[in-house]
This record gives sequence, C-alpha cells and structure tokens, in this order.
Amino acid sequence: FIIFNQVSKWYGEYPALKELNGEIKKGEVVVICGPSGSGKSTLIRTVNRLESIQKGQILFDGLDIHGTSTRLNQLRTRIGFVFQNFNLFPHLSVLENIMLSPAKVLGVKRDEVQALAGELLERVGLSHKANAYPGQLSGGQQQRVAIARALAMKPPVMLFDEPTSALDPEMVGEVLNVMRALARDGMTMICVTHEMNFAREVADTIWFMDEGRILEKATPEHFFTSPSHSRARQFISDLR
Ligand code: ATP
Ligand code: MG
Repeated sequence: FIIFNQVSKWYGEYPALKELNGEIKKGEVVVICGPSGSGKSTLIRTVNRLESIQKGQILFDGLDIHGTSTRLNQLRTRIGFVFQNFNLFPHLSVLENIMLSPAKVLGVKRDEVQALAGELLERVGLSHKANAYPGQLSGGQQQRVAIARALAMKPPVMLFDEPTSALDPEMVGEVLNVMRALARDGMTMICVTHEMNFAREVADTIWFMDEGRILEKATPEHFFTSPSHSRARQFISDLR
C-alpha cells in the first residue's frame, strides 16, 4: 500500500535517510522508533511530502508521492497527519476546526459535514466540547480534536509524529486509546512514538531506525525480546 524504494534524503550535505526500503500493507500499523536524530520525523514527513527526497521512490496505492505530476493538495487530503503540537485554529470552535477542510477542500455540504464532525467528536469522546474553543481544552483534548480533524477527510492512511510527547503524563492515555481504537478499526497507520507499551500492544511491525537507516523491521514480540541488531538491543535496554 505504501512502498519505500531506495529512499535517500540529504539536508544539504547531511544524509538524513540512507537508501531506505520498506512496505506497509493496508490496515498495517507500523511504529517507528529509534534514538533522537535517527531520522524518524524526516521519514514520516516524506510520506506526505512535508520533506522532499533526493533519491528513490515512495509509492502510495500506486501513486508516486514525489513524482512531479503528483498534486500536493490531492495527496494531503488522502494522508492524515497528526503532529506533536496540535495546531488547531484558535479562533474556530472544535466543531468548526473539524468541519473546515471537508467543507472547503472536498466541498461536502454543510449539514453532511456537521453530521460527520459530530460522529467524529463522539468517536474521540468529546461530543460535549463541540462548541468550545481550543484554548479552553486540555492538551489531551486538543490532540483528540486534531485526530478527529484529520479523520474528517476520511484518509486511508494516518501518520502520527510523537502525538503524545507534548502532553502531561495523565493525558497520554486518552490519546493513545483513540489511536488504539483506530488501529482496531483497520486504519493503516505509521506512528513515531516513544510509548513502547503502545508499540508492543498495537504495532504489527516495528521499524527501528538509527543514523538514517532502518536497522530492523520486526514484530513487537521479536523486537522487544530478541532484537537482531546491537543498536536495537542498546535502545531497548536504555528504555528500562
Ligand atoms: P527526535 O526523536 O529527536 O524527534 P528524529 O529521529 O525525528 O529525532 P529527525 O528530526 O528526522 O530525527 O532528524 C534527523 C537528522 O536530520 C538529525 O540529525 C537532524 O539534526 C537533521 N535535520 C532534521 N531536520 C533538519 C533540517 N530542516 N535541516 C537540517 N538538518 C535537519
Ligand atoms: Mg522527531
């Protein structure tokens, strides 16, 4: 469904991604982990073209993501992205935040969009906050709205880059629960996270990155009990 084929990226002279290969199947949940600076954010951002690549190819449902004729707008409506910082529009209510893109970009009718937004709010447990403004919400609530907003475009894929790392610890769980439910519903997901319990429970596959390379792709069972690579063993023992 998503295929990385010999993908390389440089920031100037600095090689950030080195000939990466990988495949993500429909409905698969891939958790990317690895030390700081290993290229996790860079990799996930190449998937919706927030970062360019200099070599190789990324295919999404047969579409060449970095192909010159691939339209960015079209791509972004099909790939949901949730960042560390929720980036909600502060002057719009929760409901309006969720409704904005489907109404503007997809041209869905207002009453349909409103019904959809209502459903999504229920799904993330925030029906009672529909008319609140982002500034009136906790970090965990804002992040759940951000997830609902991304889902409003009905993307077949969702990307998450450390969605819980800016949150107070007591709010991490509520966001992970929403992600867990999404995974259970069959969403294709790529998640960068340091939440290793989440990785263990939810990931189908873990990609371990180090210095711009994917050193290991493994099931959680295999990764956490008997990683093949010494850098992965080191990473896991540092977690404890
Ligand atoms: P973290 O866990 O700290 O978020 P990461 O694995 O997400 O790290 P990246 O943000 O992908 O790492 O960065 C990979 C490497 O590329 C790092 O060495 C970083 O300094 C470098 N880098 C990232 N963004 C840029 C940029 N815009 N310009 C130059 N170098 C960059
Ligand atoms: Mg990062």
